[in-house]
Amino acid sequence: MYKEITQARGKTNFASLTDEIGDACTYNTLCTVGQEAPKAALSAMKKFASEFEAHIKKNKCPAEVCTAFVHIYIDPHTCTGCGECMDVCPAECIEGKPNFIHMIDEFDCTKCGKCIEVCEEEAIVKTAGKLPKLPNRLIKVGKFKKH
Ligand code: SF4
Ligand code: SF4
Repeated sequence: MYKEITQARGKTNFASLTDEIGDACTYNTLCTVGQEAPKAALSAMKKFASEFEAHIKKNKCPAEVCTAFVHIYIDPHTCTGCGECMDVCPAECIEGKPNFIHMIDEFDCTKCGKCIEVCEEEAIVKTAGKLPKLPNRLIKVGKFKKH
């Protein structure tokens, strides 16, 4: 269940199920390991309740750690079309050509962050929020309209 929560597949009953299964393990297991093991899951669910809620109900990872909730995009107003990002992308999911605004194919992007490191213009943005309007085809640098 925790793995599914980090993959944006969490369900609203996961908290109550964790309690139920955790309590059952704690009180019905004969060995000490079985009795102690659920405590980590139970205390995490209590101490970080708001984090779990954000993942499951708001589709957000407040710490921006779970990649399923994070977007990486190229700001069409800042990209200079230099191509540095394309050269380092191990997933080959950046499209572009010289002097054109580059684009990331989110479907294949593993969110490794290598493109962010090389972009001297700081045009590549990592966000847990909503995506802005982005080009859906290659457009010359400076020609992408804001609205
Ligand atoms: S995103 Fe950055 S590295 Fe990639 S083409 Fe644009 S300016 Fe160059
Ligand atoms: S985050 Fe990694 S996989 Fe995604 S576009 Fe950048 S370099 Fe490619």
